[in-house]
Amino acid sequence: MTSPEARRPIVAANWKMNTGPHDGAELARAVAAENLPFAQVDVVLCPPATGLTAVAQAVQGTPIGVGAQHVYWESSGAFTGEISVPMLTGLASYAIAGHSERRQLFGETDLDVQHKTLAILAGGLTPIVAVGESLDQRDAGATLTVLRTQITAVLEALSPEQSAASVIAYEPVWAIGTGRNASPAQAQEAIGWIRDTVAAAHGCPAAERVRIQYGGSVSPENCEELLGREGIDGALVGGASLDAAKFAAIVRAAAP
Ligand code: PEP
Repeated sequence: MTSPEARRPIVAANWKMNTGPHDGAELARAVAAENLPFAQVDVVLCPPATGLTAVAQAVQGTPIGVGAQHVYWESSGAFTGEISVPMLTGLASYAIAGHSERRQLFGETDLDVQHKTLAILAGGLTPIVAVGESLDQRDAGATLTVLRTQITAVLEALSPEQSAASVIAYEPVWAIGTGRNASPAQAQEAIGWIRDTVAAAHGCPAAERVRIQYGGSVSPENCEELLGREGIDGALVGGASLDAAKFAAIVRAAAP
């Protein structure tokens, strides 16, 4: 069912709660100065909210996209500390929803992720919807069920066109920031299950178009093996994305 030629790989950097405007812009300029295969790979930087303006300015005139790590689904109002999708106008064209750190540390539910994804799409941005199982869930043989539940909660609110236009990141919780990446076979299997779930919800054309990344301790050492697998359409990169040369090596490995 998969047709890799039809999908452009996408590699996104999740800087998490690291960098301010000054060093964020410096890192963005360092990434832009790498000789990246922009003709073949979409490259996205997701700085913290305070760095969005500086990073957007730093990459202006380059093909590098900018993404927000977090948004609230309401457009405006009394939501202290939150950032809405309309507030990202001119700054970001992507936003992450459902990162496991948001789910685990800040109590985000599947329904929250659905609301956020809808708001991101409604605002004309591309959502990067993160899903993944914990180690206990994997050990209990529940990975497929967990992924299906998380992804279905979002898909049921989307049209087939919206799901096709989204990016999904398969990020096993046990692999994030641990230095223990999923094996290429594990990543490929889980991504296959996610694509099958999209097909069941919205048909094969949507499933063939939706881009599904792998995330979890991706590094220059393991990226070629992971990103060389059919069906793995790039990576969501945390730790290694704070080093321009390491991030660039991962982007290059994503080029078909
Ligand atoms: C992430 O934050 O999405 C991530 C995958 O982090 P790391 O690459 O550090 O595991």
